[in-house]
Amino acid sequence: MAEVLNIALLGRRNSGKSSLINMVTGQDVSIVSATAGTTTDPVKKRFELPGTGAVNLIDSAGIDDDGEVGKKRVSKTKELIGQIDMAVILYTANDFGSYEQELARLLQKAEVPFLLLHNQSDIIPMSEELSRALSQKYGTEVLEFTCDPFSDEESSALMEKFFEAVSNTIRPYVSKTILEGLVRKGDEIWLICPVDSEAPQGRLILPQVMALRDVLDHDGRAVVMKPEQLQEMLSSPHARPALVVTDSQAFGFVNKVLPEDYPLTSFSILLARSKGPFEAYMKGAACVEKLKDGDRILIMESCNHHSSCDDIGRVKIPALLKKHTGKNLEFEVIPNLEKTGDFSRFAMVVQCGACMITRRQLMSRLKEPMEKNIPIINYGMLLAYLNGILERSVSVFKDAR
Ligand code: SF4
Repeated sequence: MAEVLNIALLGRRNSGKSSLINMVTGQDVSIVSATAGTTTDPVKKRFELPGTGAVNLIDSAGIDDDGEVGKKRVSKTKELIGQIDMAVILYTANDFGSYEQELARLLQKAEVPFLLLHNQSDIIPMSEELSRALSQKYGTEVLEFTCDPFSDEESSALMEKFFEAVSNTIRPYVSKTILEGLVRKGDEIWLICPVDSEAPQGRLILPQVMALRDVLDHDGRAVVMKPEQLQEMLSSPHARPALVVTDSQAFGFVNKVLPEDYPLTSFSILLARSKGPFEAYMKGAACVEKLKDGDRILIMESCNHHSSCDDIGRVKIPALLKKHTGKNLEFEVIPNLEKTGDFSRFAMVVQCGACMITRRQLMSRLKEPMEKNIPIINYGMLLAYLNGILERSVSVFKDAR
């Protein structure tokens, strides 16, 4: 799993969030102090969750913070809920009061899975009766915990329990792998990766790396080439690839050069399938022909500073869409994970490949337009549609194992 999941620690001031992040990561990431409200902005620390992969553990300001500045911190903590994949609500002294209930309500509303952790159990042990009632009410695990264990053995046992509970909670929400069902032992997969002025310096982009790793995980072989090497590859003796995956930028060219019976798709379409609402994107493609003069199209990017994506979302797609429909369309771009005011102004939402965000972040972003029945599609699928090759690109999924 290549995506990095975000797990927030939520709770009142002095419920031990900072101590927990320090204990899990084995470092003094957060300042721990008996003075309530030491954590202001959310603090992130990446670590490897056994059996799941890389996660960001996020410390947050106490939900009971007060005063002018305190209220701002609380609102930042609440904003965080829209951007995370999972939460741990910490409470102490068997006091699961209005603050914790409000957090649970907000998490349920945002459909964020969470578990409950009774902290400081070395001082006041967890009430079995309350934890059973909470577990039943919220359908989640309740962990008895302390950040002040007696011994190394107790510390290891607590960490093991914590990791297991987090893994069990988050596992159903993890995206499929990028090539799930499309590669098996011995398969040869061709990956076509342009190395041009738009490619980042000295590295491959994330979906390319994810695909490479997935091929290796399935004991297949990956052949990586630039688009201009494809013709030469086809003219030389070669093993027939089980799948050819190209960058969306080279889609038109590869589609022309590659024989029709070679299965072809793009990194962006693979990402749409592994973490996006694929069926909704397919329906979105069908709505391109219904666009009218004056319609507004929202381009949603999901990170900053990626010139290639800027170019696709801000230049290529608007130009191609106008040319294809012949309509006078207007475009608006929202960068990073910023929010837009009102989706009903838009006739269509075009989401980027979302390679830098998790499935939950993507789904949370697309929730509102989907609820309002606004057609949505992602860059790769729209480019494939506009180039007349969407059908070919998704037909590879029909026989996915
Ligand atoms: S998250 Fe979106 S904007 Fe950022 S690099 Fe990936 S596809 Fe491009």
